[in-house]
Amino acid sequence: MNNTPKTVESLINEAETKWASQGRTDEQKWAVRNFITGSMQEAITALNELRKADMAKNEVWVPVSGYEGYYEVSNLGNVRSIARMTVGRWEKLKTSPAKSLKGDTMKNGYKRVELSKDGRRHKIFVHRLVAIAYIPNPSDKPCVNHIDNDRANNQVGNLEWCTHQENTDHAKAQGRIWRPSGKDHHSAHITHCPKGHEYSGYNLVLTGANKTNRNCRECMRQSTKRYRARLRAEERLQK
Ligand SMILES: [Zn+2]
Repeated sequence: MNNTPKTVESLINEAETKWASQGRTDEQKWAVRNFITGSMQEAITALNELRKADMAKNEVWVPVSGYEGYYEVSNLGNVRSIARMTVGRWEKLKTSPAKSLKGDTMKNGYKRVELSKDGRRHKIFVHRLVAIAYIPNPSDKPCVNHIDNDRANNQVGNLEWCTHQENTDHAKAQGRIWRPSGKDHHSAHITHCPKGHEYSGYNLVLTGANKTNRNCRECMRQSTKRYRARLRAEERLQK
């Protein structure tokens, strides 16, 4: 199966050569030619309509790196497939109209789209597609930052390349990362162990290098008791 996009001319030539070698009639050859050019005309009309809409929105499209001829990404953070014709199984011609990809939003707010090429599908972050297409990255920084912190806003102006450290600093400065500690830590509000013993006085055992892990003495005692009972039972079995 061959799925690479082809030009109208090459498709017509290919079909005509093939049909001529099989001794088809002129009528059949014209049928093929009309089918190809007809579908292409539809695709071109659809494309022109899209162009008009883009101009109204000041939207510019460039090919997605690595998916040239398949997908385009815009300065407003939209992704679409390109209208194309493919030769599929049994030499059947298939036209795929241009389609904007809806994508999905992950729990953490990032938007992804699924791109497919040569039968392989890849889910890719939209903000990375936009940054790669529109923003130069001379010092080869690994991350893309959303300047206004809105992960759904993937317009060029809202993105910048940054290092991991810069990304974290930015998040902290914007108050996106806050690690509660001490009295504010969520564990500090838990007054009882999972089995209902109170964390207080003698029953509270602090462990860990910084004495930050809270344990229930009663539960620890019961656990030791069960362990010793198991040992005794095993010893009895061996006798
Ligand atoms: Zn307990």
